[in-house]
Amino acid sequence: MIIVVSPEAAPADIDRIVARIEESGRQAHLSIGTERTIIGVIGPDLPQLQDMFETMAHVESVHRVTKPYKLVSREFQPRDTVIDIGKGVTIGGNTLAVMAGPCSIEDEDHVVGTALAVRDAGANILRGGAFKPRSSPYAFRGLGEEGLRHLAHAGRVSGLPVITELMSVRDIDAVAKYADIIQIGARNMQNFMLLDEVGKLKKPVMIKRALSGQIEEWLLAAEYVLAQGNPSVMLCERGIRTFETAYRNTFDINAIPLVKELSHLPVIADPSHGTGKHALVTPVACAAIAAGADGLMIEVHPSPDHALSDGAQSLTYAGFQSMMRAVSGIAAAVERSLTPPLVHA
Ligand code: PEP
Ligand code: MN
Repeated sequence: MIIVVSPEAAPADIDRIVARIEESGRQAHLSIGTERTIIGVIGPDLPQLQDMFETMAHVESVHRVTKPYKLVSREFQPRDTVIDIGKGVTIGGNTLAVMAGPCSIEDEDHVVGTALAVRDAGANILRGGAFKPRSSPYAFRGLGEEGLRHLAHAGRVSGLPVITELMSVRDIDAVAKYADIIQIGARNMQNFMLLDEVGKLKKPVMIKRALSGQIEEWLLAAEYVLAQGNPSVMLCERGIRTFETAYRNTFDINAIPLVKELSHLPVIADPSHGTGKHALVTPVACAAIAAGADGLMIEVHPSPDHALSDGAQSLTYAGFQSMMRAVSGIAAAVERSLTPPLVHA
């Protein structure tokens, strides 16, 4: 249930409404906007409760939320969530987030070199995997904590905040220590224990859509994190499994405007995993920004043929620069901006 508070209500009036919600055995989540405060009531929705809140002073209206997710819904929070990552970067506002870097961190020089190259081309966040989910147990599975140290070092050298994947509760302290944003990978979108644990952190979290994840399941995954008290969540469309085998995954462009309509959370597009083919990355990145995405996640490698993972979908430095040029044209058309590149290629 959602309670819309009258604009003239003073903080003490809002406190009284919250106290009444808590007396009823439910939880209150406040969303304070510039014009209105909205209170989300978490717990069973009963018609008599709605009647009771409607008669309270300073309550403008009460709405029942029929969707299974509440805190992530637009009804609960009409304004877009803007997440402050630190180091001057925000996600969800006018400036697009561009997360770029290698699929896997291979060694220190590799990730530092890539960080500087993507930063100079206009990326504002460095990505890199240290704990890698691989289909085969014999494939390169990442450098683990050593990789996290290299990533954090590359973040310091380049000045970019860093994002990296957390695969298991076992590694949560290490990943939280080095990462500015914690990535929950597609294969863990419904690892509810992991979602609960990142919900207890005060650190932004990006949840990738599962290989066969439905929109509602994806939004419910985000709800897990918000329900634990962490509001800094963004979603990432990275392609889904379909009957089509001509590319690795099918990038679901529909998901972007739909999720933006259903939820206030920022949506990032990953055309690297979404296509699996480097030649498709730029056009799909452009399409995603045109469709309303708040940013991109792009795999970049100095020599994709030698990458230890996902070389086929990785852009070279030159390829990334040219993608950024293409995206900047689309960004301007949809009135979004990019961090200006340090080096104009
Ligand atoms: C990745 O970002 O490198 C990754 C493994 O992504 P996904 O979870 O989308 O497959
Ligand atoms: Mn990858």
